[in-house]
Amino acid sequence: MNCSFQFLIFLFFKSLGIFAIGLATFVVSTVVVGYYKSYYPFLLTKSFPFLVSHLIIFSWLIGGVVYSYYKVIRTKPGGVPLGMKTREQIDQIKQGRSKKYRYCKKCDNIKPPRCHHDRVTGKCVLKMDHYCVWINDCVGHYNHKFFLQFLTYCCLGCLYIVLCTFTPFLVDIGFLKPSSTSNQNYEKCSILFVICLVCLISVSFLLFWHMFLALTNQTTIEYYENKDRKAYCNENGLIYKNEYDLGKRNNWNWFFELKENDRWWKFLFNFRRISNDGITYPKANSTKKSENIL
Ligand SMILES: [Zn+2]
Repeated sequence: MNCSFQFLIFLFFKSLGIFAIGLATFVVSTVVVGYYKSYYPFLLTKSFPFLVSHLIIFSWLIGGVVYSYYKVIRTKPGGVPLGMKTREQIDQIKQGRSKKYRYCKKCDNIKPPRCHHDRVTGKCVLKMDHYCVWINDCVGHYNHKFFLQFLTYCCLGCLYIVLCTFTPFLVDIGFLKPSSTSNQNYEKCSILFVICLVCLISVSFLLFWHMFLALTNQTTIEYYENKDRKAYCNENGLIYKNEYDLGKRNNWNWFFELKENDRWWKFLFNFRRISNDGITYPKANSTKKSENIL
């Protein structure tokens, strides 16, 4: 690809990314202000434990959204470490004399397993999933867990507000009669309900997809590669199994680096950086029935 064309693509996506991050920050800020302007006055009319419990839930969820978004933006997805191989070793891989690693023509460097070249940033990314404008970077080995945490907190936060503002929304559209003692701003609650419902529906698709990927130990790119391999094996009467698939529970624990006895939902509180180097990955033991034959 022409160098100046590559630079234009890079510039376009980087500008779009800055706009997308600004938009996401604006939407989150609008939701927070909207909550305190429309729903908080209603909470003040309720009992103290009710008020406090709602404020704790809201603060936790919004804190989770902001912190996981910060973490996913600030954490680089991971590139091929410098000096991993000598020039001589890279040339051997380039000439096909070493089969352990693949070679990237664009970077003139080795490609560790699960690594892919990203056309936007023009670099190889470890365990690359996709380029995301909302974080202005790739989702890869080191930030994929934060990305999934961000999606989860977004959905939980939106769900909480949708549930809180559902009744005021029904009042606003004339489905229910307003309470004589309530001082809620039904119109503002309705706007909040619609914003959060739209976000919930759109983000939940992405959330379920990435949960599926985490549970099956695949990236989006690998999913399509594995699909092709599976189809090829099916046509030829063979069985294909993803070599990195350790089983749902182990995949989940590995993805978030949870301990064996940890509850699955502990991923919501685990913001530690991934310690795995992104070069070597645990593989499932082959069995007679399900060998990875490709
Ligand atoms: Zn590359």
